[in-house]
Formats: sequence, structure tokens, C-alpha cells
Amino acid sequence: MDSKSLYAKAQTLMPGGVNSPLRACRYVNAEPVFIENAKGAYIYDVDGRQYVDYVFSWGPQILGHQDAAVSEAAHKAIDLGSSYGAPCYGEIALAEEINKMIPSMDMMRMVSSGTEATMSALRLARGYTGRKKFVKFIGNYHGHADAFLAAAGSAAATVPGTPGVPEEVTQHTLLAQYNDLEAVKTHFEESGDDIACIIVEPAAGNMGLVLPAEGFLQGLRDLCDKYGAVLIFDEVITGFRLAPGGAQERFGITPDLTTLGKIIGGGFPVGCYGGKREIMEHMAPVGGVFQAGTLSGNPVAMAAGLATLKRLQESDYAALEARTKELAEGLTAIMKEKGKSVFLNQIASAFTMYFSETPVTNMIESGKCDADAYATYWQQMLAQGVYLAPAGFECAFTCFAHTDEDFEKTLEAARKVQF
Ligand code: PLP
Repeated sequence: MDSKSLYAKAQTLMPGGVNSPLRACRYVNAEPVFIENAKGAYIYDVDGRQYVDYVFSWGPQILGHQDAAVSEAAHKAIDLGSSYGAPCYGEIALAEEINKMIPSMDMMRMVSSGTEATMSALRLARGYTGRKKFVKFIGNYHGHADAFLAAAGSAAATVPGTPGVPEEVTQHTLLAQYNDLEAVKTHFEESGDDIACIIVEPAAGNMGLVLPAEGFLQGLRDLCDKYGAVLIFDEVITGFRLAPGGAQERFGITPDLTTLGKIIGGGFPVGCYGGKREIMEHMAPVGGVFQAGTLSGNPVAMAAGLATLKRLQESDYAALEARTKELAEGLTAIMKEKGKSVFLNQIASAFTMYFSETPVTNMIESGKCDADAYATYWQQMLAQGVYLAPAGFECAFTCFAHTDEDFEKTLEAARKVQF
């Protein structure tokens, strides 16, 4: 069956035909293509078309699809049984590797998604401090747990309101614009004794890529120290992408707790939260804060994650960053030649080219971008074999498997886009 017929069928079985809203491609006025397989920097649809991928399953596949070492590790693990629901060595091996790369994570818990990781980290911060409120940034996305669905980014920004989330649940969620340290200070001045934590994407990836302003993360660190609140870095996107040790290595700021997902699963469903021993020991069965998971620490996912992290330690982050910068600047120059006003945010192997009249430093500016221009760009890039995120407020990711030819093909496609 072709993508069109599959999409028609899928819509009879799943809301919008998808298992996660953005995949429906509504934001770019299109229908999704159905993927048959993926290898290296490419994905292939059921209609026999090849695409240079810049989505990579929304971040996890930083080595490219089907990396040989990761696939081998996963296959070997499957042959030993796909799930035990009991401790296994793979959990220790992955935890040790994470601790080596992100030393602030003295102890950790494996879960099955980024959503579980952030939800559990918030509960832990509340349990540890005995406080209810927390600070979250407008346009940051921390998964779909109720408390975070107040002014969230990513797909959550596309639905009108969030029916199903009672006000009582979000009344403790204090909002601030990203990069607005003064707004956070005001929250602490007003209710510092009630604030359990600040949760932040240390480089935001869900209103497009937005970098932290000079002093922003340090300011959050200082406020948490002053008021005895927990600083949580949500590194579900930035972990192992901004640097082998994530955003905290890149920016030199150490959080109390870190949440991870995406890359640590090597393409399998994994999340993780962890940090200071003193805080983590409040988790059951040592402490009283409850969290559990049937598939947590799944041996196949642990093996794929470990193989991924080992491969990343021998990967050249600086070289990929330089090549990504060149690609992103090339795309930006091409759009400007076409008379479009575009602004680029880029770091490591992630970038967003905004169709915008101004630079983008927060959700207000991201929200003003020209969605129609992005839709036109996206549709024509797809038609020429380039697979970009189907929404202008997402990151484009490069991977270690991208070749210079892939980037040249991408630039060539961009040159042919007509508005
Ligand atoms: N946190 C951030 C920063 C994310 O980008 C995401 C997902 O995109 C999540 C949390 C939730 O992760 P998951 O989709 O695995 O539940």
C-alpha cells in the first residue's frame, strides 16, 4: 500500500492517523509519508522514495539509523530475552556509562520515556523539598504529564488549550518567558518558600532551537541555591547532543537533577532521571517518593543505549558542529537570496532556521514566525528528498552518518524552493 492509502486507513484506527500529533503533518498543510525502513542518514517511504533525514526520530538517532554497533548490541540482547522485570547487568553498565559522561548524576533511575523522566523528577523535587510550586518556561516542553501542560512547546503548542488538565493541577506551575531571569526572580521573591524546583531545557528545543542568554542558566542556579530549590535540567534533547556530557558540560552549569531520553535509548524507548545522591535517595524503596515501571531498565534498550554512548565517546563532535554550522548558514543565505527574512539559531548538531522578522530568543518571538513560509519550504524540500521536522518550531538535527554530499543535496534542494 502507498502512503496515501495507509494514511486513509490509519485515520480509521488512530486519532489523526498517528500515535503522536505532529506526525500528522497538519502544521505544514500536508499528509505524512509512511516509513518503511531507515539506514544511516536516510529514511525510505513505502512509495519507494529516499530522503536525507533531519528528524532522526526527533533526536535519538544521532549516529544515524541502524548504526552497526548499536544494532549488534540490540540483537545480542534480544537473544537473551526481551524483558525480565528483574535486575540485570545491562542497567548497571548503562548507569555507569551515563555517570562517567554526566558526573552530576551520582544516582539515577531508568524509565521508558522522557515524559516519565520529567514527571518523576518533578515528583522527587516536590517530595524532597516538601514544596508544591515549580517554575517552568513558556515554550519549553517536558513531555505530556499534566503539570507541564501549561504553555508548553512542541506539539502541545498546536492544540487549543489542554482539555483534560484540571486547573487545580497546573495552579502550582509558575510560568516565565525563556531567558527572562527577572521574571523568575519575581516568582522567588513572591513565593520562594513554596517553590520546589525550576525545570528548564538548558538549550530549548521545542519552540525551535533557542539558546540560553549569557548568565541565564547561572542565574537559575543561583536562585535555586539561595532559596533551597532543586534545579532540574531537562536534557532529553540536549543530553549527548550538545556535548558528550550534554548542555551541562557545554555551558559549565551543574544542575541538581537531570532528565534524559531520546539518545540514551539508541532508538529504543528509554528515559532516565538522576542527580545528587542525597536527593535520589528519597526515591522508593530507600525513601518515600514512589515511581515504578514494568519495562524500566529493559535489557534490549539498555544494551542499545550503552552501545550508543560508547560510540559517541569516539565521535568527533567538533567536526559535526562545524559541518552543521556550514549547512545551516548555507540554507539561511539561500533563503535570504530569495528575499525571505530568516534568522538562524544553531549549536552542535541542532539548528532552527526561523522564517521571522526578528531574532528568536523566546516563545513570543518564535510564535510570530511565518508558518506558511515554513510549510512551503517543508513541502518542497520533502518533494526533493529532504525530510525536515513537520513544524517550524522544532529543531533540525544532523547526525554522524551525514556526508558532505547529503548536505550539498540539501542545499541544492533549498536553492530550488519557490515561494
Ligand atoms: N523533554 C524534552 C525536552 C523533550 O523534547 C521531550 C520530547 O520531545 C520530552 C521531555 C518528552 O519525551 P518523550 O517524548 O520521550 O516522552
